[in-house]
Amino acid sequence: MTAECLPSTKSAFVFDIDNTLTPPRRQLEREMADALRWLKVPFALAAGSDLPLLEHQFFGPLHSFGFRGIFDAFVCNGAARYRCAYDDLTFRCECIDDFSFEKELGKEAYAKLLCVLRQALDLDQFRLPSFLEVIGNQILERGSMVNFAPIGRPTGVLSASERANRDAFVPFDRTSGFREGLLAYLRERVDRDLPGNNIFIALGGQTSFDIGMRGRDKSYAVRRLLAEGFPHVTYVGDALYRGGNDVAVLDFQVSLGTDRNKLTVVQVDGCQETLQLLRNPSLSFEPVSPPYTGSVCSR
Ligand SMILES: [Mg+2]
Repeated sequence: MTAECLPSTKSAFVFDIDNTLTPPRRQLEREMADALRWLKVPFALAAGSDLPLLEHQFFGPLHSFGFRGIFDAFVCNGAARYRCAYDDLTFRCECIDDFSFEKELGKEAYAKLLCVLRQALDLDQFRLPSFLEVIGNQILERGSMVNFAPIGRPTGVLSASERANRDAFVPFDRTSGFREGLLAYLRERVDRDLPGNNIFIALGGQTSFDIGMRGRDKSYAVRRLLAEGFPHVTYVGDALYRGGNDVAVLDFQVSLGTDRNKLTVVQVDGCQETLQLLRNPSLSFEPVSPPYTGSVCSR
């Protein structure tokens, strides 16, 4: 989506997907698809997941619920950009801007990073309790970023046992601070082993970590849209908390200085809040108010 290829407008929305437009790791629902169909301004997506996961979770359902039109999806935490065009028969997502994390970081540094992740999983302090299983790959190399999931990342639709495992991890993580502790460890190790790096590590969704290059994060969609001529962008996400993967957008807002009013950042607590926002933008939630003082997403 660019200002040039879409009708002239004063503003655009950028949405996180998981827990913002859909329930966590569940498919888009009709109410949200309808809200997007009737949205009066262009929108783009900034998704933590990769394209195959999103096809089932979001793109397919959006088409079957009747959405027709065009939007851009910044996937893999925002690093790769796809143009998604929907007509009556099909929807197509064409990559228009790709990015290689390994190439950007360098082969040797990238290998070191993967080594840090593997070693962390072997430490006693990050051993999972016996009621949790590892299901699927724990380190997912997605080209433009790495998703690191201590309980593993099943592919496709979650089975009942995979969902039960995930559902057991979420309260465990919340009460034990498991990911917070692991996040601090990873940042320290990455800074020690890869000095001067430009890597961000953030909590991804409810179970994993997103790891990639600063700038090629959730803020990238907003950066591009503003650079391509949209005078104002509203970003909506759920992970605008300390360590969350949407926080890069707040860091970018701070960097805008006197232009920060070009970007409004709205935190939602799940997709029901997003629905309320879309149905009545003039009565929307309070934006996260600057000055934002904690740069917690990056490294
Ligand atoms: Mg989210």
